[in-house]
Amino acid sequence: MGQFNTNENVIIDDVEPPLIRRGALSGAPNPHHQNGGLQEERFPLEGRIEEFRKRFFPDATDGLWNDWHWQLFHRITTYSDLCRFLTPTENERRALQSADTLFPFSVTPYYLSLIDSDDPSNPLRKTVIPSIEEANIGKGESADPLAEEHTTAVRGLVHRYPDRVLFLTTSFCSTYCRYCTRSRMVGGHTEALQKYWAGAIEYIKEHTEVRDVVISGGDPLTLSDDLLDYLLSEVTAIDHVEMVRIGTKVPMVLPQRIDDGLISVLQKYRPLYISIHATHPDELTAEASRACNALADCGAVLGSQTVLLKGVNDSVPVLTELFHKLLRVRVKPYYLFQCDPILGSEHFRTTVDKGKELMQGIRGFTSGYAVPQYVIDTPGGGGKVPIYPQYEVGEDDEHLYLRNYEGKLFSYPTARETTKC
Ligand SMILES: *Cc1c(COP(=O)(O)O)cnc(C)c1O
Repeated sequence: MGQFNTNENVIIDDVEPPLIRRGALSGAPNPHHQNGGLQEERFPLEGRIEEFRKRFFPDATDGLWNDWHWQLFHRITTYSDLCRFLTPTENERRALQSADTLFPFSVTPYYLSLIDSDDPSNPLRKTVIPSIEEANIGKGESADPLAEEHTTAVRGLVHRYPDRVLFLTTSFCSTYCRYCTRSRMVGGHTEALQKYWAGAIEYIKEHTEVRDVVISGGDPLTLSDDLLDYLLSEVTAIDHVEMVRIGTKVPMVLPQRIDDGLISVLQKYRPLYISIHATHPDELTAEASRACNALADCGAVLGSQTVLLKGVNDSVPVLTELFHKLLRVRVKPYYLFQCDPILGSEHFRTTVDKGKELMQGIRGFTSGYAVPQYVIDTPGGGGKVPIYPQYEVGEDDEHLYLRNYEGKLFSYPTARETTKC
């Protein structure tokens, strides 16, 4: 601490640097006072899964409950199903019974067990149980904001960046997130997109510039071991493909899927990167932690992707706790996404200023490893653009003026452009 005070580049706080840029940091928020109390009011998860299982599935043995097929078979997909477990609010009832809810509802018994049945504003509940706000189409929203259909090279393959492609291998998920960027296309059978695989693989073979393949969907980890093995062997056999990544929410919504069979498939492929969709610290149960650790043990490199959601995870304490919990199970926070403007998403979308404020409340206050990149996936298909709080607050001929995480000003002596003699 003391060393900073003797640094000649520290500027006394009341001296304003020149050319203060618009939106510059005015001072760091205290992360511990934002949305204060949120953590203390959190739903206690201790023993919750066990209690839920005993109450609603008294015949489910450990073996059954921990079998991912059992979890899939017992998914909750209709209003009347849901009523067996909790009393939906009037809003939820209207949404579930309305034909306007275009995109399917599904949640695994495991994930439903993490939801507080008495609290309509429970964060996980909002992410998977439809609400009537989904029927409100906000300004600028569209079914395919990222214009994936326009950057589709061949069916099931989005080629938007120079060296990597997005391979949509299935339209099925065990649990549908209400803010899903691909809500326009998800909901099919696990193998519904399989007929396009050959064409997509052919395209990758022909395009030698593709060195990175993102296997996504739907959720590719809902494919059978055999199909996944086939897919990974085909893609990794292509000489110019240097890395493969799998995008999945399975470790959070269906951790039972991370079983010995899957691990024996995944461990054959190196390097294998897995981007885990994680939303809230309540998801990091013993089961989810075991799943992440098992994936890390088998040699996969783990990152996380989180969508910033109003009333769900839009506070510094919640995000910090989520990122800390991910790091403890060897998942490096990779992206924090501004919520895509899909149809009916306004109730989930925060302002970008809020996102910057949250990033500002995290960076510097905790390990750099815990800080993801905050990005907007640009509507129209421009790709991901990083968004930063304003740390560069001004410059003159000799200095760049920087505001640190505490809001203190520092200057960095800029190097002169070297002129060739
Ligand atoms: C996000 C995305 C990728 C991967 O982007 P990275 O920034 O490399 O993680 C690739 N293709 C498409 C279409 C994407 O949306």
